[in-house]
Order: sequence, then C-alpha cells, then structure tokens
Amino acid sequence: MTDFPDDYEEEDRFASAGLRLTVDLAALTDNWRDMARRSGKARTAAVVKADAYSTGMEDAGEALYLAGARHFFVATVDEGVTLRLYAPDARIFVLSGIWPGTERRFFENDLVPVISSEEQLAFWMAVLAEYGDYPCALHVDTGFNRLGLDMNEAIALADDVSRPASFAPVLVMSHLACGDDPNSAMNRQQLESFRKVSAAYEGIDSSLSASAGIFLGSDYHFDLTRPGIALYGGEAVNGMANPMRSVVTAEARVIQVRDAKAGQAVGYGRALELTRDSRLAIVSAGYADGYPRSQSSGGVPLRHVAPQGGHGFIAGRRVPIAGRVTMDLTIFDITDLPENAVSAGDYVELFGKNIAVDDVARAAGTIGYEVLTSMGLRHERRYLSEDD
Ligand SMILES: *Cc1c(COP(=O)(O)O)cnc(C)c1O
Repeated sequence: MTDFPDDYEEEDRFASAGLRLTVDLAALTDNWRDMARRSGKARTAAVVKADAYSTGMEDAGEALYLAGARHFFVATVDEGVTLRLYAPDARIFVLSGIWPGTERRFFENDLVPVISSEEQLAFWMAVLAEYGDYPCALHVDTGFNRLGLDMNEAIALADDVSRPASFAPVLVMSHLACGDDPNSAMNRQQLESFRKVSAAYEGIDSSLSASAGIFLGSDYHFDLTRPGIALYGGEAVNGMANPMRSVVTAEARVIQVRDAKAGQAVGYGRALELTRDSRLAIVSAGYADGYPRSQSSGGVPLRHVAPQGGHGFIAGRRVPIAGRVTMDLTIFDITDLPENAVSAGDYVELFGKNIAVDDVARAAGTIGYEVLTSMGLRHERRYLSEDD
C-alpha cells in the first residue's frame, strides 16, 4: 500500500472537496461588533442556532465569545450543550424551552430555558418546586402567533403574589413578525404591546429585536438585542443595501467541462434546449447539498422573481445555471467565458463575495436564511481568522 504523509487527509480534504465552505471569522466578529454598535446602549447577544447558520457552532461560537458576546440563543438543548464548551461563562438561552426529561441537561450545562407556553410554565413551576431556584426567560406573544405566552397572562403573572419565590425570570422577550419591513404598521403595534410587558417586568431585562429590529432604531433595542442572520452576512431588511460583510463562501468543484451542440437539450426533463453551440461545466453540488433546485433555468413554476434561474461565479464572470439542479450535480453554462478559462478541478462560487447568498435565495424563491442553513449537510469547511 502507498504511504501517505500524516497530514495528508486534513490538507487535501479541503483542496479536493466537492463542496466547500469558507467561513471568515474576522468578518463574523466584525459583523457582531457592527450589530453591537447599532444596538446602542443595549447589550448584544448572538443567535447561533442551526449550527450557527451552518458556519459551525464550535468555531463561530468561540469566535463570538472571544469578540465579547456573553449572551447566546440556541434553538435546542443539544445546541446549548455543544455551545457551553466554547462559551464558558455566557448566558445561553434555549428558545424551544424545557421539556420533561431535559431538566438535568439544562442544569448541568447551565442553560436557561425560554418558557413560551402555559404548559411549559406549569412544568417549569413544578421543576422549581422540586429543584429550587433557577433562572428562566419568558417569551411573550405580541402578535406573531408562533410561540409565546399570552400577553395579558404574562402581565398578570408579573403581579401575581402567589407565584413561587423561586420563580426568577432573567429576561422577557418577544419577536417581531414584520421587522424586515420598516414600513409595516405591525412593528409599532408590537412595540407598544411589548412596552407594557416590559413595564410589568421592571428590573428584568427585555428583548424584542432580532437583526431586522436593530435597524428599526433605538426604540426597539430595549436591554438586549438578538441578531442572527446579519452576523452571517445575510440581508435582514428588505430593499435596503446590505451593510454586513460577507462571511460564508460556498464553492463547488467542476467535475467535467463538455461541449454541446445547438438543438441539443440539457439535463432532466430537457428543461433547457440549447439555441447555440455551448460549453457546460458540470459541478458537484446539488439539492442534497442544500443548493436549491428551484434555481433551475426551467421547470420550476413556483419561482417568479428570477424566471431564468440562478448563477454561479467563475473565472471573473457570473455564469447561469443550465437546466435543472439535480441531487448531486448542477450544470453551468460557461459558453461566454474564454475557451480555456475553466477546467475540471476548478471551483465555481455558489455564493460568497461575488454572488450574495440572498441573490441565490431570490433566484430560488426563498430567503437567505434557508439557503445558509440548508448548506450544513455535506461539505468541507475551512475557517479564516484575523491572522489569515
Ligand atoms: C432566529 C431568531 C432570532 C434571530 O433572527 P435573525 O432574523 O436571524 O436575526 C432572534 N430571535 C428569535 C426568537 C429567533 O427565533
């Protein structure tokens, strides 16, 4: 058998990966500082659910902690347990709340449950009766109708003298339904409602705004802001130039370059019929990697924003997707590039500095959040830090 050097695998995995993500940790922490500046007097948390929007909980969590973040939000207990190793003395809030059977993992990892329904509240009171004092957060619904305690019940609870002394919320929070639309009247309505909740819990920290809400101005900041998507370079506010630095670059390898004749068709369903002799790059990323099929150049009736489909970027140019995105492969039309510009083994940027993740999302009829969090399945990942 051939002898390979010890570092063979690590060095070559990234260099030969079918799909690879480069995460710029300096851009990530810059974005967090930017959000902290925009949050004014409020403290700024970091939302790192879904493996930190596919950037990797461990490295992203640690970088944000080292940049100064001391409040984190995750969706699940598992995520909180992982994060705890990288954010030793931070407050970690678990948005999905606490369920019977998970108490021990909360306590042992010092995780704070976000209580968001009457059932969870009742369970939480029983937990306190058994184990004693422990912090929690309360999520109050101000018009989203997803999670959250009823507003009036939450206010009544604040004044309820019969509640156990060990009941010690450290945060009351709510979530905006239309924060990405600064013109929506819903924002003001939710703000007015949340002010009443916040007043009822005087002395306890209040939090209303995710990334988008931070841009709505200081009225919306309260004591703690909760940015997610903006940290990872995504668009938070519709129709506004995105001020955040790009954090994630996704690239896929060209497996083959091939020539096809005018009149021939490309891919499943003959979704693209060529009107000229064409050169095609067959690339190793598809919908099983999280690259949306709905960006295909044809045959996807749901999409109307970009009916011609999505683009990649290679050899200094945007190149259109040809035919349908398939499970493991996508075809790009590189006819307009110089003849030898692309060879097998080169990489196409799927999104990053040249193609915004939100442009991929628009071409797919979805949002940058979904594109980012879908890319977590099958890739090699590399990190750039301040030193690179
Ligand atoms: C996901 C989430 C956030 C972060 O939202 P972004 O839009 O990504 O900034 C904040 N708060 C809650 C309750 C969330 O579920």
